Amino acid sequence: MSHGQTRRQILKAAAGAAGLALAAPVERLFAQEAIVDRLADDLFIIRLPGEAAVVAHTTREGVVLVDGASAAASAALTKAVASLPGGAPIRTIFNTHWHVEQTGLNETLGTAGAQIVAHENTRLWLATDVTWPWNGKRFTRAPKIAQPNKTFYTTGELSAGVRYGYIPDAAHTDGDLYVHFPKQNVLAVGDAVYGEGWPVVDYTTGGWIGGIAGGLLRLQTLVDADTRIVPARGPVLTQADLKKQYEMYATIYDRLATLLNKGRGPGEAVAANPTKEFDARMGNPDEFVRRSFESLWGYLSPDA
Ligand SMILES: [Zn+2]
Repeated sequence: MSHGQTRRQILKAAAGAAGLALAAPVERLFAQEAIVDRLADDLFIIRLPGEAAVVAHTTREGVVLVDGASAAASAALTKAVASLPGGAPIRTIFNTHWHVEQTGLNETLGTAGAQIVAHENTRLWLATDVTWPWNGKRFTRAPKIAQPNKTFYTTGELSAGVRYGYIPDAAHTDGDLYVHFPKQNVLAVGDAVYGEGWPVVDYTTGGWIGGIAGGLLRLQTLVDADTRIVPARGPVLTQADLKKQYEMYATIYDRLATLLNKGRGPGEAVAANPTKEFDARMGNPDEFVRRSFESLWGYLSPDA
């Protein structure tokens, strides 16, 4: 990361280290450490082990969160938020999309009367059961209290000067949103942009490879050279990173679309090595390529 202004602090989310020596393995859960990246006096990234990043904005009216980690991390996340300077009750949470890695705190916060903001498509996915065909994984609908209670279609703004908007390209799902903090020049993007590794292409809920490229192009227009872009995974990115990523995904998209138009299948797409010059840096592409190719069926196939 090239940002000297990002001061990294370690906050213990644990109740205290004294009991740890005697603690049974299961109690070690409470010893989870949150790593907190400070983006501004009132804006932080909370990173819990194995969890997607959470952005926390402290205001006089309470804390605004972008995403809420998985349900298993709720206690650790709540503690980490409470220990932030100016940490106060969480009044608002954005769901950048419906995935369980982002929406685990919804039930707790919904029960506490917090505002849960999401694109209407995200609410619809959280209100229905979803099964992923590629691994058979099932997600049961969220209880009503855990569903977004403030949805939108295009853009919106909180009273705290926080702007948000829909990313209609369907980079990751068809409900992706960004949250823009203009004063701090920070853009939180959830999984619409990946900071490391090949992205998950969740075509079951609308995501596709064309949307990954399209979203990267769109998000570049919302930022400047100094904007810090916070993805759910990996380090903070810059506008230049988005540009580089766009070029890579646009290239892959073109190659896959060509293969589809020639009547090829997913196995042939993987065998064609459409990511070859990127693999050394990005890692094994096979699952990404297969899923990206399959994601074209819903968007480009004439008989879709
Ligand atoms: Zn996701």
